[in-house]
Order: sequence, then structure tokens, then C-alpha cells
Amino acid sequence: MTNALLIRNAELGGELKDVRIEAGRIAAIGEGLPRTACERDAAGGALIPGLHDHHIHLFATAARLASVDLSGVQSKQALLDALRTAAASRPAQDWIRAVAYDDSRIGLIGRADLDAAGLAHPIRVQDRTGALWVLNTHALERVLDDAPPPCVDRDASGMPTGRIWRGDTWLRTRLSSAPPSLTGLSQKLASFGITGVTDASVTTGPDEAALLAQARAHGELLQSLYLMSGAALPPSPHYEIGPAKILPDERALPALTDIVAQMNTARSQQRRIAVHCVTAAELAITLAAFDAIGALPGDRIEHGGIIPAGLFENIRTLGLIVVTQPAFIFDRGDRYARDISPDERPDLYRLASLRQAGIAIAAGSDAPYGSFDPWRAIQTATDRTSKNGRVLGEEERIAARDALGLYLTAAPDPGGPERRIAVGAPADLCLLATPLSTALNEPSAIQVRATIAGGEVIYSA
Ligand SMILES: [Zn+2]
Repeated sequence: MTNALLIRNAELGGELKDVRIEAGRIAAIGEGLPRTACERDAAGGALIPGLHDHHIHLFATAARLASVDLSGVQSKQALLDALRTAAASRPAQDWIRAVAYDDSRIGLIGRADLDAAGLAHPIRVQDRTGALWVLNTHALERVLDDAPPPCVDRDASGMPTGRIWRGDTWLRTRLSSAPPSLTGLSQKLASFGITGVTDASVTTGPDEAALLAQARAHGELLQSLYLMSGAALPPSPHYEIGPAKILPDERALPALTDIVAQMNTARSQQRRIAVHCVTAAELAITLAAFDAIGALPGDRIEHGGIIPAGLFENIRTLGLIVVTQPAFIFDRGDRYARDISPDERPDLYRLASLRQAGIAIAAGSDAPYGSFDPWRAIQTATDRTSKNGRVLGEEERIAARDALGLYLTAAPDPGGPERRIAVGAPADLCLLATPLSTALNEPSAIQVRATIAGGEVIYSA
């Protein structure tokens, strides 16, 4: 039994209140509640529901925190320099894992490019989308067996190019390394006021789910966990089972019948369905598949990277929720401005127009492929401004309070009502330094004073 915690003088819906937390729940809300041994003066700071990241990849993000970051690298030479710098502090038998390589800047690389670094280390480099791994020759020697699967790309003469497309599951079995610790990542998320996460990895099956459950049980993962997966999952007290994840391969769009078959499998497991839709083609085939099998409340479109206005009515009628990444405009906006054709630019990571069309939206980070600070995303939703100050889709701006709301919905109903701070509700809370309207004038993670998950303080500034 945990001790009661009293938060005094918190701004709640515009008024100053005391909030008493007991046994993981909100036990009382009022003015001048009786003092307890354990209390905290909010001094007028807003108390809001803890934020929920509706789309993240936990293990990949934790691995990213321990990897060489190539996101700012603009030439092959700079890539080799970054690898050599990383190698200098690592014994030659250790892997060098590098991420966020941008093929649109450097060109499509292969193993010969990595071998040119002249290093004895096995090296693997992931592209910015997560679809491609490039391995050097030392790395290929470690992972290739007699019968490599089709994800291992080959040249005309049958030699592996070093490129492995959407081969994470196979690669993981060949690397047999322990998964990275979630401790550091979870603490970072807590410092943003995040009390719950939805892991959206299609690669999750029973083994990965067991590892995540363990991380939760051992206090490595402080946030509540809602879990998508590719394969069926066993129930666990440490996570809630979310939608089945379907991820069409952008390089070779599947037949409609394939997607329908995957959806039927999900339904046979009594699952909701979440489909990765970045391109207009992916969205069109996904909607056709939902039209064929019927959608249920809680079915979702992940990302909604390009949504032509002509598809609004179809999405709305099906009742699908669009789980989008507002921070992508900040993270990737400069590249979008270069790579996305002008006629598709209005369709890019829409916010306001979806709302106006009556389509439910929610937000997630898609970390490690996007920044995992929700306050950065909230800021970007209001200004639609890229890292280099370019504005994309000004008419898609929404108010900061509405953007915050995209993180305040419940995991199983991301497009539904905001969770409320009420007696009896789970004590998943975020305490800010100032009243909410002040905090939202300049949305930033430095506003977060404390984070409480399941009644426990998991972060204190
Ligand atoms: Zn994702």
C-alpha cells in the first residue's frame, strides 16, 4: 500500500484545487483538503492528465539512444568520418550501429561504401525510415547463413549488396543480442509528462511482448503500455493488447486481397486494426480493404502522411482514427519541401482540415523516426514550422490546447474524449510549472514540474 500524496494549489479547469491521491487513484478533489505526510505545493501550476504517446517504438528508440546519429550527415565522406569517430572508442569486435542515414542526400549506399571506412568493426547503418539496413562486409560475414531470406538484396551476379530491406525480424535472430534497456528512455519520457505509451511495432510477437512485460514488471518501463503487434499476443497484467498492426511495404504495394486477409486474421483474434499509411497509394488500398471488411470503432490509420481531401469522406464514414505525428513537420519539413511534389504538399500531415472534416485525430511521436518530445510536437502543430524555419501547410495549424488534447485521450480510444482528472480515475498526471494558458503560450518540456503514473511520482524536476 503506497502512502497518500496530496497536491495542493493546483490549477484544475481554471480553479485552484487540492488533489489527494491514494492507492494509484484520485481519492479526493477539493479546497483545503486535510494535510498528509507526503505533499507537494503546485503553487498554481496546472495539473493535467499524463500525456500518452499513441505511436512509439520502444526498443528501437532505446537502441537509437545508444547509436551513432547520422541525421545531420550530408555526404558519404561525413558518414565515413562519423563511423570512424565512433570506432575509435569501441573494440573492433563490437558492432557499430548507426541510424538516420538519409539516402535522399547521400544516395543509396551499399557494403562497398561502408567498407571504404577501412574499419575492422562490423557496421550496420539504418536509413531514416527504418525500412533499410546497410551492412559492411564484416557485418555480412557475421549474419549471413546458407539460405538468406529475400530481404537480403543481391546484385546481378548474386552477391549481397549489403542492403537488407524490412529485414528487422530476421536480422534480430541473426544478431542474438540482448534488447537495450528501456530505463533511460522511460525516464526521458517521464520528464515530458508522459504516463502511457502505445508501442506500434509490427515486429512485436510473444517474445518481444514478454520482454516489454518484464521491463514493466521490473520498473524499467515506468509508463503504462498499450501494445500493438504483428502476431497474436498472450494476455499479461503488464500490458493491454492493442490493435493488430499492418504494415504494407511501400516498395511493393501488396494486393488488396493480401491486406484483406491480414485484416481478417486480426479480426479472428478479436483485434482492432492499425494500418501504416504514409503514401496516398497506401491509404487508398487500406480504405478499399476497410470498405471490404468493415471498420470497427478503434481502427486506425497510422501517420496519414498524405491524405488527399477527396478521401476525407471515406475515412469519416468508416470512423477511422488518424494517429498522426505533428513533429514530423519540424523534424523533416525541410526535406518534405524538397521531395514532396507541390500538388501533394497540401495533403501532408494534415491536422486542422481533418478536424473540420469530422475525422478523429490523435498524436504520437513514431520515435525513433521522429522526435519523442510531445511539447515539440504541440509547438509544431501550432506553427507548422520546420527546423530551418520553413512553414508547411499553414492552414493545417491548430491551437496549442487542441494539440495537447491529441495526447490526452485514452490508449484504446485515441480519437475519443480527453481523459479527465476526477475522483476514482487512475492517478496518471502531469504537473506544470504555470497555469495551463501560460504554459501553452510557449509549449516546452521545461514546463513539466512532476509526472505521476499509477499514483507514483516517476519524475520530479
Ligand atoms: Zn511507426
